Amino acid sequence: MTTSAPFPSLAALENAAEFQPRHIGIDAADEAHMLSVIGEASRRALIDGIVPRSIARSQPMDLPPASTEAGALAELKAIAAKNQVFKSFIGQGYYGTHTPGVILRNILENPAWYTAYTPYQAEISQGRMEALVNFQTMVTDLTGMDIANASMLDEATAAAEAMTLARRSVKAKGQRFIVAGDAHPQTIEVIRTRAEPLGIEVVLADSAEQWNTLLAGDDYFAVLDQYPSTSGRLGVDDGDTVRVHAKGAAYIVAADVLALCLLKPPGEWDGGPAQSGGADIVVGTTQRFGMPMGAGGPHAAYMACRDAFKRSLPGRLVGVSVDVHGKPAYRLALQTREQHIRREKATSNICTAQVLPAVIASMYAVYHGPEGLTRIAQRVASYTAILSKGLAQLGYTATHHDSAFDTLSLKSGARTDELLARAAAQRVNLRKAWDEYLCISLDETTTRADIALLWSIFAGEGQALPRVEDFEAGIEPLIPAALRRTSAFLTHPVFNTHRSETAMLRYIRQLSDKDLALDRSMIPLGSCTMKLNATSEMIPITWPEFAQVHPFAPADQLQGYAELDAQLRAWLCQATGYAGISLQPNAGSQGEYAGLLAIRAYHRAQGQGHRNICLIPSSAHGTNPASAQMVGMQVVVTACDANGNVDMADLKAKCEQHADKLACVMITYPSTHGVFETQVKELCQLVHQHGGRVYVDGANMNALVGVAAPGEFGGDVSHLNLHKTFCIPHGGGGPGVGPVCVVEDLVPYLPGHTSASVAGGVGAVSAAPLGNAAVLPISWMYIRMMGPDGLQAATETAILSANYISARLKDHYPTLYASANGHVAHECILDLRGLKDTSGVMAEDVAKRLIDYGFHAPTLSFPVPNTLMVEPTESETLFEIDRFIDAMIAIREEIRQIESGAWPRDDNPLKNAPHTAESLLAADWPRGYSREAAAYPVAALRQAKYWSPVGRVDNVYGDRNLFCSCLPVSDFA
Ligand SMILES: *Cc1c(COP(=O)(O)O)cnc(C)c1O
Repeated sequence: MTTSAPFPSLAALENAAEFQPRHIGIDAADEAHMLSVIGEASRRALIDGIVPRSIARSQPMDLPPASTEAGALAELKAIAAKNQVFKSFIGQGYYGTHTPGVILRNILENPAWYTAYTPYQAEISQGRMEALVNFQTMVTDLTGMDIANASMLDEATAAAEAMTLARRSVKAKGQRFIVAGDAHPQTIEVIRTRAEPLGIEVVLADSAEQWNTLLAGDDYFAVLDQYPSTSGRLGVDDGDTVRVHAKGAAYIVAADVLALCLLKPPGEWDGGPAQSGGADIVVGTTQRFGMPMGAGGPHAAYMACRDAFKRSLPGRLVGVSVDVHGKPAYRLALQTREQHIRREKATSNICTAQVLPAVIASMYAVYHGPEGLTRIAQRVASYTAILSKGLAQLGYTATHHDSAFDTLSLKSGARTDELLARAAAQRVNLRKAWDEYLCISLDETTTRADIALLWSIFAGEGQALPRVEDFEAGIEPLIPAALRRTSAFLTHPVFNTHRSETAMLRYIRQLSDKDLALDRSMIPLGSCTMKLNATSEMIPITWPEFAQVHPFAPADQLQGYAELDAQLRAWLCQATGYAGISLQPNAGSQGEYAGLLAIRAYHRAQGQGHRNICLIPSSAHGTNPASAQMVGMQVVVTACDANGNVDMADLKAKCEQHADKLACVMITYPSTHGVFETQVKELCQLVHQHGGRVYVDGANMNALVGVAAPGEFGGDVSHLNLHKTFCIPHGGGGPGVGPVCVVEDLVPYLPGHTSASVAGGVGAVSAAPLGNAAVLPISWMYIRMMGPDGLQAATETAILSANYISARLKDHYPTLYASANGHVAHECILDLRGLKDTSGVMAEDVAKRLIDYGFHAPTLSFPVPNTLMVEPTESETLFEIDRFIDAMIAIREEIRQIESGAWPRDDNPLKNAPHTAESLLAADWPRGYSREAAAYPVAALRQAKYWSPVGRVDNVYGDRNLFCSCLPVSDFA
C-alpha cells in the first residue's frame, strides 16, 4: 500500500473485523496455495464438495456481527457489572479464598498451563503430572485415605460417583443409599438424579435418631455423611463406620479440605482400618484452596478411597513408573483400563476432568505448606468461635455451639427476613438454610472487621456491640477434643520447600518448562480441536464480577450471569439449530448424560418407558456407551462399513429388531472417522420411524458451525464441547463445558436445579446451576468477536487445513477414510498399519519420534488402532502446518532406512524416541545412528528445540507397581 492511495471509507475502517485474522492462521495467499495443492478452485468449491448438499444450513446464523477485541471486552464488562459482588457468608461448599498472586499469574493466567492437553503423552506432560501427583498426595494426606485420583468434576458429582463405586464394590446387596439430611442440598439433588435410573433408593436421615435406625437396617449398600455438615455440625458418632462395615456396606464422607487440617481425617475414624473403622470413600471440593467461587465453577473436586477400591476408581489417576533409562517418570496409571476404553462396561463416563483447578489447589498447598494451611484453618476456627460468643451475647445461640469449624447455624425466628435485608444493605450475604434458621460460614478472607460487621447486623436496637478484643484471650475452637487431628500431613518436601515467592515462581516455571502446550507448538489432536484460546477471551474470567460471586447468591445479584447465560444459549441455538440449551453440564460426558436423561424422560412421559435400547456405531467415542449405561440404557453396537461409514443395512436391521424398545441412536457427526456421511438425514429418519430419538455427539462441531446444523438435519439432542469448538482451553485435562442442546419437544427435559430455583425436568446434573460458569465468558467472547461470517470462515478453514495435510501426506501416509471425492472433514486419519510389516514401526513410535521434532503427537489409535488422527484447526498458520508435515515426511524417510535394512528394527531413532539430552550426552553412545540424527533431524531444530525430560515411559511397569503419591526425593538422586 502506498501513502498516495486514497483512504478507505471511515465505515470500512471502523468495521474491519480485527479479531478474525488473529484467530484464523490462514490468510488469502495461504489459502490459494493450499487449494492448489488440494486441487480445488476455491474454498467454496472445496466445501461444497465435502459437506453434503442435503444438510447445508437453510439460513445463515442470526448472530451479531463481529466486534473488535476492545469492543467485545467493553460490552462484556457492562454485562459483568450487572453482577453484584457481595461479601459471602453463604458457605454450602463455596467459600472466599485468596488466590496467591504467584499462582494466579503464573498458572491460571499462563498459557503454558492452561493450553496444555490431557497428559496422555506422558513424556511431554511430566510437569503437570507432577502437579497432579502433588494433588493426589495432598488429598490422600488430608483425608487419611490410601489413594486419591487427579480430580473430579464437582463435589456433588463426586458424591454420586462414590455412590456407584460403592455399589459395585461392596458385599451388601441392599438397594438403599442412606444420605445424611444435613449434607449440602445440591449434593443430595445430584445424587437423586443419578440414583433414579439405576434403581437406587435414596433415603435421607433427617435426625440423629433416624440415622441410627437406618444404619441398623440391612437394606442399604452405602451411607454418605457430610463433614462438617451443611449447617456446620461435626456430628461423627463413635463406631458408625464399624457398624456400617459390619453390614458389608460402605461409608462415604464428603469432607471439607480446610477443615481436615484440624479435624481427625475420615480414614482414621473409629481407629481406622486397623479396627475395621474408617471411611471407605472420601469426596469433596478443593475450591477453597485458591480457586475463586466463580458462581460455582470450575473447581477441582476430589475422590479418595481405600486400597481395596482403587482399581475401580473413576476419573484419572497419575502414577509413577520408570522410563527406558530406569529413571522415575509419571504417567496416567491404569491407562489401558481407562473408563471409556471399557465402553458399555465402563463404570463412569468421566473424560475431561478439572486438571487446571487441581493444579491450582495443589500449588496452594505447596505454597502454604502444612503450617500455612493449619494457620489459615486455625484463624477461621478462631473467628468462628469468637463469632459464636458474640452472637450468644446478642441473644443468638448457635444450634451446635460446641461443635463447629467454620459454620454456625442459628434460630433467627421471626427476624429472619429482616436480618437478611439488613445484611444485604451492607452488601453481605447470609444463608437462609431453612425457615427461621440462618447459617453463617467464615473463610480464609474473613477479617476482624467482618466479624464486627456480622454482629452489627444481628444487634437489636440499643444493644451493645461485642468486640473481638473481648474474646481474644485464650480462645478455644469449637472442635470437640475427640475430633481434633493429631496425625501429621503434607510431610513430603515439596510441601515444605517453596515458601518464598521466588522459589515458588521457579518451581512453577520448572514444571511448565517440562511440558508441551499450545504456547510452544501445534497440538494436532484429532477429535480434540486444540485451537487458539485468545488472550482477550481469557481476560474476563478473573474479573471480580465473574470470579468472586457465590453460585447461590440471590438472583438479583447474578443478573450479569443471567444475561451471559441467555445470550450464549441463544447464540449456541443459532449455531446448532436446536430450540433449547442448558449450560449446566461441566464436561462433554456430562452433556451426553444429561441428553440421554432427556430422551429417557421423554419416552417415559409418552408412556414408552420400556424403550431402553441405545444403538451406537462401533466407531463412537467411549464416553457414548459409558453415558448410556449410566442412564440404565442397554447398548447395542452397530457396524461400520469398509469406508468407515455407519453401515446403514446393519443399522436398519437393528432398528427393526429392537423397534419396540428403541430409545435412541448416538452418532458423531461428522464421524470420528473424519468424514461427512452423506446418508445422515436418512439415518435420522430411519431411527425416528422406529420411535427412537437421535443423539448427535457434537464434539466435531468445528466442522459444522455456520455450514450445517444438527438440529436441522435430524438430530434431537447434542452436546457441545465448549472446550473444543468454542475456545475454552483444555487446561491440561479440564475444565470443560458440555452444554446439552435439544429440539422443541425435549426442552421440558433439560436439567433443572432446585437449590437455585431453576425449573427442569430431569433434576440437577451438576453441583452449580450454571456448571463451570466462570469460563463461559471465553466462549461468549469468541462468538462475539468472530461474528457469523468469522465462525463460518473458521469452520471452512479448519476443513481446508485438514485436507491440505491429507493431500500433502498422501504419498507418505495414506488417509484411511475419505468421501467419494477423496476429501476429509476437519481431521484425517493417517494409516500407519502397513508399516508394522515393512519396518516394525508402530503409530506409537511415530508419536514419540514427533516429540524429538518438537511436536505433540496427533490422537493415537483412536478410533482405529495403529493410526494417527490429525486435526489442525483453523488457528494454525501455514508455516506451522508445513513444519508438521515436513516432520512427518522426514520421519517417513527414517522409516525407509529401517525398511531398507540400514537401521535395525529394534534400534533406530523411532524405537528409541524420545531422546533426552542426558542420554545424548552420555560418554557411551552405542546406537547405529548419530547423536545429530537423534536430536537435530531437521535444521530448524537447532534454532528452537524442545527436550523431553524423560525417555519413553514404561506403561506396564507403572501398572504392576501402582504408586500414586509424591516420590521420596531419594528416588531422583
Ligand atoms: C471429547 C469427546 C467427548 C467427551 O467430552 P469430554 O468433555 O472430554 O467429557 C465425547 N465424544 C467425542 C467424539 C469427543 O471427542
